[in-house]
Amino acid sequence: MPRRRDAVVRRTKPPETKVRQSEANLGRQNQNQPGKPDRPVDAQRPKYIRWGMIDLTPEIADSLADMGYSEPSEIQRLAIPPLLAGRDVVGQAVTGSGKTSAFGIPMAETVNPNSRNVEGLVLVPTRELAQQVAKEISAVGKKLGVKVAAVYGGEPINRQIDQLERGVPIVVGTPGRIKDHMSRRTLDLGNVRFAVLDEADEMLDIGFADDMEFILRRTPSNRQTALFSATIPGFILKLIRRYLDDPVWVKLIQEFDGIKTAAEVQQVYYDVAERDKVRAVEEILDEIHENAQTLIFRRMQVGVDRLARDLDRAGYAVKGIHGGMSQRDRDRVMRAFREGTLRVLIATNVAARGLDISTITHVINYDMPDNVEEYVHRVGRTARMGKEGTAISFVGEHDQEIIEKVVGKVGNDVLQRKLLNIYAR
Ligand code: ADP
Ligand code: MG
Repeated sequence: MPRRRDAVVRRTKPPETKVRQSEANLGRQNQNQPGKPDRPVDAQRPKYIRWGMIDLTPEIADSLADMGYSEPSEIQRLAIPPLLAGRDVVGQAVTGSGKTSAFGIPMAETVNPNSRNVEGLVLVPTRELAQQVAKEISAVGKKLGVKVAAVYGGEPINRQIDQLERGVPIVVGTPGRIKDHMSRRTLDLGNVRFAVLDEADEMLDIGFADDMEFILRRTPSNRQTALFSATIPGFILKLIRRYLDDPVWVKLIQEFDGIKTAAEVQQVYYDVAERDKVRAVEEILDEIHENAQTLIFRRMQVGVDRLARDLDRAGYAVKGIHGGMSQRDRDRVMRAFREGTLRVLIATNVAARGLDISTITHVINYDMPDNVEEYVHRVGRTARMGKEGTAISFVGEHDQEIIEKVVGKVGNDVLQRKLLNIYAR
């Protein structure tokens, strides 16, 4: 594909956003060359197809149509053009706004689909997110034949090695496993042109900072870099300064100390004593309609197991997911939840970030999160892409401080206090 950019151009020239326009014009001039005989219809196919106001390769536009993406979401509308022009981008938008394709589309456009070298790299904090993001980018690149490998821990490494040895242009993975492959020399990042840090703050939070830096430092420094997250706390700024080059900031969040939840989430909290929480969650599960899909957050793995057991005994069809389970079990549970055969999932924060299951109608903070950002991410698992959702928080004996912080940030008009029936008598 002649129009694919040479990543090296970027640093030797001042940043400019005209690359594609001028390429497109060139294409058009050629087509209109005087004296040329009329060409068959096929040859006149546009070099680009408009998607919203964005020019895309026809195959990619085709794939997007198949995915039902009739137009770009706002973050896509704002982030894709600078990314296609070769700029670094920091993208900040509420959860569920379509950030994956905001980098996935330009990545599929950028890499050479036939390359056996890794040209696009996406780092994500969790295994489930690696699977999800890889799937989305493969869908975007499907008609163009762009292959994507997901690389994460917990899965037999040999299968991943085979896949990497066959050669893929795009790799999506968790920092730990990517580093592992690098040290086994089954993954060479020396040809990366475009690197993305998705949910970078979470990757730092869960201790991937060193791995991330290790990885980025082994990619060419003239690569293009993008960082996407719903929240950008102060310590991310250092990372941005170090690894992004004069980035374009796309910020779709009305600054509220950097915190904003999707407007469509109805948010309530209940005061619940620790010992009454099982009854409280039963009351809530009994009240919500049977087609609801509910994600319940607990702090600890043992808490997930315990609540799953208690609710199971009480006759609810529930499953738990956490980092202590085998990847096979995690996959099985996630599949059932995605397919909708499982309506209630209990999870640790392993499920707080990035997971996109558009059918989730309710999020329950059975245990409160540790901080406001975590609250925003958990709540962001519902009300995806403009759908409605409800977030319910249980405020226990020790949660006064955190609930005050959350109310202070999101506002008491948004987060309303209610009373459970178990306390009404
Ligand atoms: P984020 O990373 O911002 O939390 P995701 O990338 O996970 O959001 O996307 C959220 C949902 O929106 C997904 O189900 C995705 O398939 C859908 N989506 C993304 N872009 C579009 C689009 N342009 N049109 C329709 N649906 C979209
Ligand atoms: Mg995401």
